Amino acid sequence: MDFNLTDDQQMYMETVRKFVRNEITPKVMEMEREHAFPFDAIKKAWKIGLLNLSVPESVKGYEVDIVSAALIVRELSYGDTGISTSAMCNDLANVVIAQHGTEEQKEAFLRPFVEAPIISSFCLTEPGAGSDNLAMTTFIKKGNDGKYVLNGEKCFITNASYASQFTVFCKVGKPGSLMVACVIIPSDSIRDGKVTFQPFDAREITVPGGGTIITGKPEDKLGQRLSNTATVKFEDVVLEDHQIIGNRRLGFKYAVDVLDYARPMVAAIGVGLARRAFDVTLEYTKERKQFGQRICDMPVARDTLVKMWKKVELADLALMKAAFKVQEQAEDRGIYASLAKNAAAEAAIFCTKEGLHLHGGYGFMSEYEISKLARDAHIIDIYEGVREVQDMIIGRELV
Ligand SMILES: Cc1cc2nc3c(=O)[nH]c(=O)nc-3n(C[C@H](O)[C@H](O)[C@H](O)COP(=O)(O)OP(=O)(O)OC[C@H]3O[C@@H](n4cnc5c(N)ncnc54)[C@H](O)[C@@H]3O)c2cc1C
Repeated sequence: MDFNLTDDQQMYMETVRKFVRNEITPKVMEMEREHAFPFDAIKKAWKIGLLNLSVPESVKGYEVDIVSAALIVRELSYGDTGISTSAMCNDLANVVIAQHGTEEQKEAFLRPFVEAPIISSFCLTEPGAGSDNLAMTTFIKKGNDGKYVLNGEKCFITNASYASQFTVFCKVGKPGSLMVACVIIPSDSIRDGKVTFQPFDAREITVPGGGTIITGKPEDKLGQRLSNTATVKFEDVVLEDHQIIGNRRLGFKYAVDVLDYARPMVAAIGVGLARRAFDVTLEYTKERKQFGQRICDMPVARDTLVKMWKKVELADLALMKAAFKVQEQAEDRGIYASLAKNAAAEAAIFCTKEGLHLHGGYGFMSEYEISKLARDAHIIDIYEGVREVQDMIIGRELV
């Protein structure tokens, strides 16, 4: 493994750092207070190439390698993990098309992301199927006219209120089937070539071929308030054959492939957040004096800072190893992706908890960034597979 970054990777990092310094950090606390979807930041990030990292060159995308993608997501997350979650969600939803779609499907479902700053949703989780994804009951069934019809409800779906396209995992034939398919449903904004960035409450999308998609009221969340999360209901949505990706029996395998790609990205989100928590805490403890000395010079406080720094660095190492393994398609990539996700979540939660503590009472005030970071950190341990599920993957591989 070579720890030297390529010139391109160095350039990506510098570009994202500059973007975060200019476009996110100065405004993030105000944006957080307003709790509005960060369209401006997303549009600007799209313009400089920080979105759609998995869209292939064949449809004019600028697909980057996994290590570069992890670096971009990590640096964006240093600015805000709600924004990076929204941005990264495009790849979560679209990488399955890049990996398993035909050239026609890539043209139809990926090229629009190159042409406009639109966002998409990855719809796997359901009210009765969280960690146990295979318990999903959303399903497609063939009608008398030979077309498939989709019915069911997904929950906790990132970007749902504003998505121009939905990637949906569903059973085939009946809710209790063992076969899973992956289907793509573009919404009007893509079909018309228009981008409708309106702040929606609940919204109803009429699908021209037949049926309706209803997205619920955006969830009011503890943290990552700059990302959007809502339920998505599919009512008799009619699908053409070309909307089914790959083999309609292999959707679950495709979902696992997506998660192998995405777990290092969630780890990158965690590492970015943990480093931000360390940096704001270091800064604060260098400024704040008690008992005639800086907080950072008090032995116990310094020990905590050292522990925080070590967690960040170790999680970053785990992230880089996972990114290399996924890049090389190594057989053991899954276990390293899970290790990285858990290590990053642990670092994010530890650094925000201890960082908040080192801020004393000020850390409990919402105007201090550490209090926001502490709220944001918890989700890293939950989405894309809770800690115990990652341990289950690691344990299964080990024995
Ligand atoms: C902000 C946010 C954004 C999200 N974005 C998306 C998205 O874009 N698309 C999408 O499809 N989903 C998304 N999710 C869903 C997310 O992936 C799930 O919440 C997560 O997988 C956990 O499922 P669950 O919430 O149903 O928890 P459950 O599966 O009910 O788990 C609850 C708890 O039970 C325990 N547990 C569960 N399984 C095991 C086990 N095998 N062994 C031991 N203990 C266990 C764990 O302690 C776990 O935390 C999002 C969620 C949130 C909150």
